[in-house]
Amino acid sequence: MIVRNLQLVRDRITTACVAAGRDPASVRLLAVSKTFGADAVIDAMSDGQRAFGENYIQEGVDKILAVRGWEADHLGLPPSRPSEWHCIGPIQSNKTRLVAEHFDWVQSVDRLKIAQRLSEQRPPHLPPLQVCLQVNIDGGATKSGVTPQDAQALAVEVARLPRLQLRGLMSIPEPAPHFVAACAVHKRAADLFDQINRAGVLPQAMDTLSMGMTADLEAAIHAGSTMVRVGTAIFGAR
Ligand SMILES: *Cc1c(COP(=O)(O)O)cnc(C)c1O
Repeated sequence: MIVRNLQLVRDRITTACVAAGRDPASVRLLAVSKTFGADAVIDAMSDGQRAFGENYIQEGVDKILAVRGWEADHLGLPPSRPSEWHCIGPIQSNKTRLVAEHFDWVQSVDRLKIAQRLSEQRPPHLPPLQVCLQVNIDGGATKSGVTPQDAQALAVEVARLPRLQLRGLMSIPEPAPHFVAACAVHKRAADLFDQINRAGVLPQAMDTLSMGMTADLEAAIHAGSTMVRVGTAIFGAR
């Protein structure tokens, strides 16, 4: 089931890229495995899926350890590339150490204090933690995310932190009533992304615009997403 679902999602991504005149290789798929077990992740890995997203930090860490244990036992067998883990949920200060020690990416950074703790706590033997800033692009009720007005200043500060690498922006807009409306809100995130890159204030341009989920990945790709985060269409309803 997961393998077939993955194929359907990959087909949706390809179709959306072709419709938008984009290279299908320009959009990465993040499989959001929250609430599903390590066995589901391993099923997806057996079909070549590598990147996984988790919302709840303790649940994510338990799963990462289980999957990495499985990988150690199956060295040399497919999948030959290790899993890559993205924290996409809210982070309280008392959870930053777990994130810094276990995840490869964190997409939900929305204030400097959390970024500073993540940088300080990132173990020296690991590569820098890859970071996206979560932007509250539509002022939605979730309230998480830096405001669009403050995003550039936060990006500049985060890019200075030694153990973090700023990769881009992430957004979770409220569900839109139709395709055109979804495109419009994603386009605002894409414009902000371009505007910050063009301002020339970062040591390195951002390369990741993480937006689009099961319901709106086509609209997000149309607007310029480089990473869609898909849970339900791969693993089923939660
Ligand atoms: C749960 C979640 C997703 C995946 O949502 P689906 O609608 O199941 O595809 C993507 N991004 C974030 C931040 C999430 O919390």
